[in-house]
Amino acid sequence: MVTQVSIVLIGLGLLMILGAMRRTQNLIRILPDRGQWPSLRNLMMFFAVGYAVYLYFLVSGSPFNKDLVASEVFFLSSLFMLMVVRFAYTTIHDILRLDELEELANTDDLTGMFNRRAIMHLLKDEYQKARRFGFPMSVAMVDLDHFKRINDTYGHLSGDLVLKEVAKVLKKGLRRIDVLGRYGGEEFLCILPSTAADGAVIMGERVRRQVKMLRFEVAGPEQLKPVNEEEVPSGETITVTVSVGVASMDSSMTDPEHVVSAADTALYAAKEGGRDRTCSASE
Ligand code: GH3
Ligand code: MG
Ligand code: MG
Repeated sequence: MVTQVSIVLIGLGLLMILGAMRRTQNLIRILPDRGQWPSLRNLMMFFAVGYAVYLYFLVSGSPFNKDLVASEVFFLSSLFMLMVVRFAYTTIHDILRLDELEELANTDDLTGMFNRRAIMHLLKDEYQKARRFGFPMSVAMVDLDHFKRINDTYGHLSGDLVLKEVAKVLKKGLRRIDVLGRYGGEEFLCILPSTAADGAVIMGERVRRQVKMLRFEVAGPEQLKPVNEEEVPSGETITVTVSVGVASMDSSMTDPEHVVSAADTALYAAKEGGRDRTCSASE
């Protein structure tokens, strides 16, 4: 009875090793850099041969040295475990590195928000979701007013600082489901899922007012410093404004870029209308 159970178990074990070897062989075929995978396959081959020999002795009933077989199996299994754990470690390390690279490729360095490539990709997703489920979707294009003057007067580094502070206001002012990205130099694109035009105008006006409340102290020649709400600045301060163009998806739009281009047109109207305001494409 014991021998029969052993034969079944060893036989099943052998089949599983052969299955694992086949998988590993497929992996070796598709991997550009095979690494140490062939060694792992060879180790499995040793196991398979060992199991087959053991099975032969069990079935034929011939005498053999069980102690030697057991110690060999122990040795090979330990080696196998070591190799598998090492492979798992390097694989997970590679996956984490890829995640990191993907995040870097999608992030804008200065503001930490999505870059243009990423935000346009996410816009496509949101557009398709809204189309499929019949939800509204709006976008808002936020552009700093006369930003060139800030750079020209206070230097590029001060310009960068203003951009960062405005980005923080935008991040705080949006809902969790909204998506925000840096569309261009001093232009931000906000995707507002499940939001119709009137809601988008309310959001645009809210962030416009919040940006206007930011104060920057002229801390030296060509140097701006953000001023906290509680702080009383000792020197001269300046404020910045943004213009906002909002547009909502409608049935005539066949591409997500059409919504962005409608928001761009509304932004142009806001600039033409005197800046520091929100205009809607539907107006
Ligand atoms: P408008 O009100 O019409 O938008 O005027 P503007 O000066 O903001 O627009 P314009 O397109 O003429 O200039 C945009 C400026 O934004 C020019 C460029 O130097 C600046 N800019 C773009 N990207 C960056 C950046 O990453 N850092 C800094 N400091 N400035 C930037
Ligand atoms: Mg501008
Ligand atoms: Mg611009």
